[in-house]
Amino acid sequence: MDNAELRQYLTDLKPEKAIWINNSARSAANGETFPVIDPATANQITEVSCGTAADARAALNAAASAQPGWAANSPRERAEVLRRAWELMIASAPELASLMSWENGKAYKDSLAEASYAAEFFRWFSEEAVRSDGDFTTPPAGGSRTLVTARPVGVCALITPWNFPAAMATRKIAPALAAGNTVVLKPASETPLTALSIMRLLKQAGVPDGVVNLVPSRRSAEISNTWLADPRVRLVSFTGSTPVGRTLLGLAAPRVVNTAMELGGNAAFIVGATADVNAAIEGLMIAKFRNGGQACTAANRIYLHKDIKEEFTQKLCQRVSALKVGAGLNPQTEIGPVVNEKAMRGINELLASALNQGAKVLAQAPLPADLAGYFVAPTVIEVPHADSPLLQNEIFGPLAPLKEYSCEDELLEMVNGTEMGLASYIYGDLNWALHLGEKIEAGMIGVNRGLVSDPAAPFGGVKQSGIGREGAREGIREFQEVQYFSLDW
Ligand code: NAD
Repeated sequence: MDNAELRQYLTDLKPEKAIWINNSARSAANGETFPVIDPATANQITEVSCGTAADARAALNAAASAQPGWAANSPRERAEVLRRAWELMIASAPELASLMSWENGKAYKDSLAEASYAAEFFRWFSEEAVRSDGDFTTPPAGGSRTLVTARPVGVCALITPWNFPAAMATRKIAPALAAGNTVVLKPASETPLTALSIMRLLKQAGVPDGVVNLVPSRRSAEISNTWLADPRVRLVSFTGSTPVGRTLLGLAAPRVVNTAMELGGNAAFIVGATADVNAAIEGLMIAKFRNGGQACTAANRIYLHKDIKEEFTQKLCQRVSALKVGAGLNPQTEIGPVVNEKAMRGINELLASALNQGAKVLAQAPLPADLAGYFVAPTVIEVPHADSPLLQNEIFGPLAPLKEYSCEDELLEMVNGTEMGLASYIYGDLNWALHLGEKIEAGMIGVNRGLVSDPAAPFGGVKQSGIGREGAREGIREFQEVQYFSLDW
């Protein structure tokens, strides 16, 4: 897609009417807008409607009215709409990917991979929609029978982050719709355009009016407060940072609203004494640098056994120094900018404070000289202490801190010494890796792989990384309530 085509695609989206209710586009109730910035240049892309409490209520009214009708459709009818959404998203992947690279900054190859990953949730949950199961049992005392079924939870409030603007939305919308729910969605204010483009696609796929509604806004708390105070909202599904997750859990408490929380990570990447070093480097380039390090599953702390440390470090430095940093829309780019100035400053501050505490830069990729955007150089850093700020905080950027270990007890103490528990990666002999993995407090473990995301696998974390699972069979259960009938027999 060239520049002129992308501009036309943006114009056709009508960002000045980005509030999407009952399958139609409208401006914010008070006419307010907010800017969307290109992180590669720091220039404004466009202005987008900034939803208010009145818009949030209007979206909720539409979702509540549409819910009984949508739930009354047969599972097959719901499945076919989702299947068409998958087909349409695959067909429009290049346009969607360009839009994502523009507003989020990520490298085009990462955007294209996300478009296909995001679409896959529609296909997966179209298949799950028709596999609804229940139970029919005889209680121990006999004399009755128990019939267990699942029903849709109702209207769901969805709040998504900017780092995977398409996939984080479809990972919630698809299972919610498959289970017979309707939704209201607030996308991150950095990336509302991707969400808007998904709304248009869902309408084309045959999603009836009111089933999926969108309220972009930079007044996040106003929108979430409005939704969570309304008795018609029965579930809040959030993906984002742990602090905002805690706030939403607090808002859900008074009315005991169901919650699904996909929160922050701090993934350990462990390379054992017997690991295939070349394979581990390949895995780390994905686990660390996919999406420029802005993934909740990103390798955040790299623990190297002392026997392989030297070889691994030297090979990694070579690879990282050669990474091509640039605008996401440039097809040569491997690492784009980070999402905004605040993120860039935060990462630079984290690095500076680690360097003050004895960490050492070993290698760095060059930055583009001709771009004024929010770039952070991919960097390899040697970290001498386990309590370094780089190991204790979620970096969310292309910094790769290395820490040596020599025995398993020391390793496990470091790996589990965090309140986060989303993902970890282990490279080494399979038997050793599985035994070690069982001792790691994380919801997902990549074994000799640098990627754990898969629509057919239950994505989620333990500890302060979240509550619940997305994708797989578990993903639809989050959007259902169990109901049982006790039958006289
Ligand atoms: P964020 O928590 O700042 O924002 C996420 C969403 O919440 C956005 O839509 C934002 O506008 C909204 N929000 C912000 N403040 C709010 C408030 N007070 N009330 C209601 N909504 C509010 O997170 P982010 O910076 O967009 O994303 C990065 C974080 O998300 C990282 O911590 C990352 O690990 C996490 N994440 C987790 C997963 C997962 O599946 N576990 C996936 C992707 C990202």
